[in-house]
Formats: sequence, structure tokens, C-alpha cells
Amino acid sequence: MEIFKHKPIYLDHQATTPVDERVLAAMVPFFTEYFGNPASNHFYGWTAMAAIDQARLQVATAIGAQPEEIIFTSGATEANNLAIKGVAEASLQRGRHIITVKTEHSAVLAPCGYLEKLGFSVTYLPVDDRGLVAIADLAAAIRPDTILVSVMAANNEIGVIQPLAEIGEICRQHQVPFHTDAVQAIGYVPINVDDCGVDLLSLTAHKLYGPKGIGALYVRSGQALAAQQLGGGEEKRAGTLATMLIVGLGEAITLGMTMRDQESLRLRTLRDALWQHLQELPDVQLNGDLQQRLPHNLNVSFAGVQTSGLLRELQPLVSLSSGAACASGRPSHVLATLGRSKAEANLRFGLGRGTTQVEIDRVAEATIKAVRLLRS
Ligand SMILES: *Cc1c(COP(=O)(O)O)cnc(C)c1O
Repeated sequence: MEIFKHKPIYLDHQATTPVDERVLAAMVPFFTEYFGNPASNHFYGWTAMAAIDQARLQVATAIGAQPEEIIFTSGATEANNLAIKGVAEASLQRGRHIITVKTEHSAVLAPCGYLEKLGFSVTYLPVDDRGLVAIADLAAAIRPDTILVSVMAANNEIGVIQPLAEIGEICRQHQVPFHTDAVQAIGYVPINVDDCGVDLLSLTAHKLYGPKGIGALYVRSGQALAAQQLGGGEEKRAGTLATMLIVGLGEAITLGMTMRDQESLRLRTLRDALWQHLQELPDVQLNGDLQQRLPHNLNVSFAGVQTSGLLRELQPLVSLSSGAACASGRPSHVLATLGRSKAEANLRFGLGRGTTQVEIDRVAEATIKAVRLLRS
């Protein structure tokens, strides 16, 4: 790519992250040396399956689950689809009502919309002005025919962390399965499926310095789930297991857990400094609660400026976006739910392992300069 002389600063870690060198090193032997089909009953199969067993344990340990409760998927989009469609299909005798939230990722909203077309009814809970679900709203929405509650752990646009344990408690009381899309929270917020009363949990490697194309769905043992991908083998999701990707997921999640507390503290300090700096501008507003929030996310609205113009000004210096990568160019349903108007520019600053204080200072200065220029 010869577009820029220097690579811009990367502040889009909620969209994806680079693969950690240690993760890559763990993956490499499984491309060429230990290439066997993990389902094969000979040396090459056994060595591949042993590595997969190890990764399964790593993923399970990170969320307080048992290894046999982990299903590997192609990522969180598939994990969310499997959870929602799989529970719906397996619970037809119980009912056809699902509860989720207006600010969920499209990988939750789209399968819910699909089920609505098939005759299911879906309640989309609102959020308050901080982006949080009210427990009373959830309790009031549960009906005798409710078969699933799906609430994300942390929002990919505004970073707010939902009260999982309280939601899980309500679901337990009403004996409704609880699914959470925990993609953005894993590695930043401690999540234990038992403590949070979670029955199904989606995660993906590429938001946590692992490879793209691999994720997992945790399914509590005893939870009914209809397979959505049929074929051979004993896995609940058919298809040859991608040994190298699974090894990468396992390594990434273990590393993420090891680094979590220290890295979260470092990122929070940088993020807070960025927010402090940006407030030199008048008419800026933070989207989402500042306390109940991922340490590496800042989402800010700048009045009187267009998002496209602001991004264009900043493009040579920094790569970031205004919201979800899969909705680039479209207005954000999350910010619309929060009542943000189109007469404002929104920027999502997604910090990561490589982010430094120097970068943060440069981005803050450039943003202030660009907003002043566009406002004048
Ligand atoms: C990125 C993301 C997904 C999609 O994950 P993929 O592995 O890319 O399919 C789902 N939910 C949230 C909250 C995300 O941030």
C-alpha cells in the first residue's frame, strides 16, 4: 500500500486487532508439521487433537466453563447465530419469544430478525442515556413463552458493560436461558459463566490478538441446542476442526487473561488522558457511561461537524472509525438509540496493546485541530 508514506496510528481495536507474535508462533507448526486431520485415528490425527484439547481447556478455563461445553465456530457471528437459532429450534414446544437489546451487534439483531420472519416475537429492550439496560425492563419483558434472553457483555461501539450478573439472576429466577455476546469483554472484564448465570456465551479470537475466522460458543451442559451446521464427526458443529486457528484462539485467550489487569489499567489511563485532552473543545459529549465501560474505548460526539469530514481530516494520521466496521458509512443504530443527532460527528477511539502516550497526544491534538477547522 503506497497511499501513505507512513502507516497511520491504529486506533480501531474494537474492529480487530493484530495477531500477537506469541500467538502466531504457537500456530505455525500446525500449518506444516502437525497438519493431520484431528478426527484421524493415527499419529497425525492424535497430535492435532491433543493441541485442540489443550486449546479447548484454555478457552473453558478463561470463562470458568468445562472443556466439553465449548463449541468452536468460525467466529462470533456464527456463535451468535448458532446460539439464537439453535436455542429457538430446540425450544419450539416451550415458546417463541426472545428478549434482546436495541444496541446489540448486528450478529445478534439479524438472527433475531430472521426468527421474527419465521413467526417468533422479539422484544428489543431500550437502554438508558448511559447505554445500560434496566433490570426492571428485563424482568417486565419476560413471559411464560420466553425461550431466550440475549444481552451483550460489552458494547462494541460505546464500550458500556452491561450488568451481566444481575441479568443472569433474573433469567435464573424465571428459568430462561441467558446468552451473552462477550466478544468485546473477554480479556478486559472478568467473566465467569457460573457467577454471571450465563448459559451460552459467544467469543472470537480476532478482537483479542488472535487470528480471524475462529471463535467459540460456550453452551452450558444440559442446555438444549439444535445444530445449525450438519455433517460428519462428533462435534456439535460439523466440519474439520481448524487446528491452527483453534491453537491461536487458545493462546490468545490465555495471554489475554495473563495481561488483563495490568493492560486494562494502562489502557484506562491512556483513554482517560485522551478524554481529558479532547474536553479542551467546547460541545463535545461522551457516548456511554464512563465508569461501566471497557478501559480501551472512548466514543465522542462533536457538535456542528460531519463524521465523514472529520474522518477525512484525520485519515493520514490515524485509522479509526465512527462505529461498527460492518456498518461503515451507515448511521449507527447504537448512537441513534442514545438519541445522538446526525448534525454531530462521532468518533470511536479504540486503544490497544501497541498504543502509546505519544500516539494519544498526537491524536488528541490532531482531533482538536480538525474539529476547530471544520467548525470555522
Ligand atoms: C466483532 C464482533 C462480532 C463479530 O465477530 P466475528 O468473529 O468477526 O464474526 C460480534 N459481536 C461483537 C460485539 C463484535 O464486536
